[in-house]
Amino acid sequence: MTNQITEQHLEMKQQVKDVPHYINGKFVSAVQEEVFENISPFTNQTINQVASGNKADIDLAVNAAKKAFYGEWGQLKIKERLAYIYKIAEVIDEHIDEIAPLESFDTGLPISQTKKMVSRAAYNFRFYAEMVATRMVGEAYQVDDEFLNYTIHKPVGVAGLITPWNAPFMLETWKLAPALATGNTVVLKPAEWSPLTANRLAEIIDKVGLPDGVFNVVHGYGETAGAALVSHPDVPLISFTGETTTGSEIMKNGADSLKRFSMELGGKSPIIVFEDADVERALDACTWGIFSFNGERCTANSRLYVHESIASTFIEQLKERIFNIKVGDPLNENTQVGPLIHKEHYENVRSYLDLAKEEGCEVISGHAPRNSVGNYVPPTLILHAKNDMRIVQEEIFGPVIAAMTFTDEAEVIHLANDVRYGLAGYVWTKDIQRGHRVAQAIDSGMLWVNAQNVRDLRTPFGGSKHSGIGREGGHYAFDFYTETQIIHIALKDHYIPQFGK
Ligand code: NAD
Repeated sequence: MTNQITEQHLEMKQQVKDVPHYINGKFVSAVQEEVFENISPFTNQTINQVASGNKADIDLAVNAAKKAFYGEWGQLKIKERLAYIYKIAEVIDEHIDEIAPLESFDTGLPISQTKKMVSRAAYNFRFYAEMVATRMVGEAYQVDDEFLNYTIHKPVGVAGLITPWNAPFMLETWKLAPALATGNTVVLKPAEWSPLTANRLAEIIDKVGLPDGVFNVVHGYGETAGAALVSHPDVPLISFTGETTTGSEIMKNGADSLKRFSMELGGKSPIIVFEDADVERALDACTWGIFSFNGERCTANSRLYVHESIASTFIEQLKERIFNIKVGDPLNENTQVGPLIHKEHYENVRSYLDLAKEEGCEVISGHAPRNSVGNYVPPTLILHAKNDMRIVQEEIFGPVIAAMTFTDEAEVIHLANDVRYGLAGYVWTKDIQRGHRVAQAIDSGMLWVNAQNVRDLRTPFGGSKHSGIGREGGHYAFDFYTETQIIHIALKDHYIPQFGK
C-alpha cells in the first residue's frame, strides 16, 4: 500500500474555500485579519487558510450571542425554537454524503465511520428537541396548606463550547443541540486541527435561518481564542471536551468569573476478558474499540487484561485481526484506519512505541501505507506490558493497545483501577453475577458488559477521576444548560416574624 494522492483529494482541496468566523449571522474575517494554515493529515500539505481569532473576535461573538439571548431568540415560544432545531437535523441529514467526506478529508477519520457520526449529529438535534418538548419539566411541592413551591428551568445565557478534533462534527453538535434546545445562545471555539465541518455547521445554521447571534463560531488557537472565551465575564458556562491538562488549565482561567463547567477529558479504558467470555465477540469488540476512529477515541479500550488461561489464544487471534485491518486513504470506503490528525501527534504516538521497546515490551504492528507522506501509525499491539509503565498509564490516543494478563478477579479490578483516568471500561464474561460485580467495582463513568461502546442518548456520558467532571446526555444535559429556579407561592397569609415593629 502506498499513499497516492488521489483525484478525490485534489478535487476536494480545490473545492474547499478559506474558512472565516461566523459571528452575528455573518461570515467574517478575523478582526486583525490573522489566519492559520489547515494541514491535511493525508498529505501534510496545506488545505486552506482559517481565520485566527483572539479576544477581539470573541468579544464580538459574545456580544452578538448576548443580544440574541435577550432579544429575538429569548422571546420565541418553545415550539418556535424547537422548529429550528428539527430543521437543523433535517438539513444535516440531507447533506451526510457531503459532510462526511469533508470530515474525513480534514481529520483522517475513515469515511465509513464519519458517515455514521454525521448521521448521529443530526439525531442529536432531533433527540434534544424531542426531550425539551416532552421531558423538560419542573417539580411542584405542596407545603401543607401554606405554600406551593415549584421549579422551572431557564436557559443560562451565552454558552461557550470548546471542542477537540477527534469526531469534531458529532461532538460539536452533541453540545450545541442541548444548548440551543434549552434556549441558550452559543459561541463555539472548534479545534484548530479540524475547522472544516464546524464551518459547514455554521453554513447549515445560516441556511436554516436562526436569528443573528444565536450561534457563533470563532476559529483559532486554544491559548488565544479559547482562553478569551473561558475568561469572558458574559459567558456563564463552558462545555469543554479535550485533554485533561487543558481542562485543568481552563478551570483555573475560568475561576475568576465563577464559570459552570462540564469537563469531558482523556481516558485510558480497560477491557477485561475473563476465561468464560465469548472470545469471538470479545475479540471483535476489542479490535473495534481500539482501532476505530484511528484509535483517536476517548473511550478506546487501550488496556487489555485477558485471563491467563486464554491469553495465548486470544492474543494470537487479536494479532490476526490486526494484520487484516485495512489502513489507508480516509476517503476510501474500505479503509478501516486512516492517518492521524497531525504530524506532532503522529510523532508523539510513535514515541510511545519506541518507549515500549525500550521498556522491554514486544511491539507488534499491522500494515500501513509504505513511503507515505500521511501520518500513518499501523494498528499496534504491545505485549508484556506492566501496569506501572507509561504506555499503560498515559493516554496515547492512537491505534495502540497494551496487553496484560491476570489470574483472578480481585487482581484485575486493582489493575484496571490503578490509573488516573476513569472514563470507560469493558467487561467480558458469561457469569452474570461477576459481570455486575466487576462492572460496579471499576472506577469509571461508563462501563459496558459483553458489549462494545454503544450508547443511547438518554443515558449519561462522562468520566470520573481525571476523565471529567459532570455528565452529558439525556436530562443530565438539561441540568448543565439550564438554571433551576424555585418559586415559593404563599397560599394563605402565613406567620411573618414581627421584627423591629
Ligand atoms: P486539547 O485539549 O488539546 O484541545 C481541545 C480544545 O481546547 C481545542 O479546541 C483547543 O484549541 C482548546 N484549548 C486548548 N488550550 C486551551 C486553553 N488554554 N483555553 C481554552 N481552550 C483551549 O484536546 P485535543 O487534542 O483536541 O483532543 C484530544 C483529547 O480530547 C484527548 O485527551 C481525548 O481523550 C479527549 N476527548 C475526550 C472526550 C470525552 O468525552 N471524555 C471525547 C473526545 C475527546
